[in-house]
Amino acid sequence: MPHDPEQPSLFDLTSPAPAGPVLAGDVVIREVRCKSLLNRGRIDDYSFNAYVGCAHACGYCYARFMQRFHPHTEAWGRFVDVKINAVEVLARQLRKLPAGRVFTCSACDGWQPLEQRYRLTRECCRLLLDAGFDIHVLTKSRLVLRDLDLFAGRAVRLGVTITTPDERWARLWEPGAASVAGRLDILRQAKAAGLETTVMFGPLLPGISDTDEAIGQLFGWAAELGVDRIWTDILNPRPRVWPGVQAVLKAHAPELYEPTRQMLFEAPARRAYQRKLNERIHHAAERAGVANRMG
Ligand code: SF4
Repeated sequence: MPHDPEQPSLFDLTSPAPAGPVLAGDVVIREVRCKSLLNRGRIDDYSFNAYVGCAHACGYCYARFMQRFHPHTEAWGRFVDVKINAVEVLARQLRKLPAGRVFTCSACDGWQPLEQRYRLTRECCRLLLDAGFDIHVLTKSRLVLRDLDLFAGRAVRLGVTITTPDERWARLWEPGAASVAGRLDILRQAKAAGLETTVMFGPLLPGISDTDEAIGQLFGWAAELGVDRIWTDILNPRPRVWPGVQAVLKAHAPELYEPTRQMLFEAPARRAYQRKLNERIHHAAERAGVANRMG
């Protein structure tokens, strides 16, 4: 598949693979070896991540906690470790584990730009499908379209995450990810390929994408595209999330800083916010006729 001009390429794809740490754009790339790949999951039976770090660099990313276990001097979004032995490690693990559903990916986007070179997520998905496992994809990258040939006719749910219908906000919060229109097109093409499709609307961003208008727009799209399963998420004060959120708000929406801080860290404000947002989500899903598809 040719490089999608919508998404940044971190490498000249005709050049040899890097031997040591390299700087691609402003992202430091390291090739590392892992001891195990497939983990027991919270969302599905298992999950795997062929990369540590994610060049999509989303301001609210929950996977920032990974830096506790894999310390890097670079900020989140500015490093990616590539588990170059991911496929052989997975093949070894698959000899011992019972089949189940695998969520990919839980702590990175498996189709971030480096995947175009390394193809680790693709090859791991191939191994899993051949071994009788189901796959649940969640991505913000159009590179996943490269793998429709592998997924078609197999036990694959293909989903995208959309946090806001506004392209301008999406670019500010998710600088390395595909445009909103590009993600909707992933759903369209996945559906046309006969796959079960899912969407995660979230985290919905306070004052930005938690309005009736924005939520109505998102659910309208889900209805129009015939998405099979819909999830929503409220911004959570998970470890290390607040610094990234603060940085975006201070630079682009300082008036939202204080209400967002209160919603995240003051229990009564958070409870009231959650209640109202859940009502708004429920009504939007009803209006769009997709309430029965809520996950
Ligand atoms: S795409 Fe997902 S894993 Fe990657 S930075 Fe964004 S939220 Fe984090």
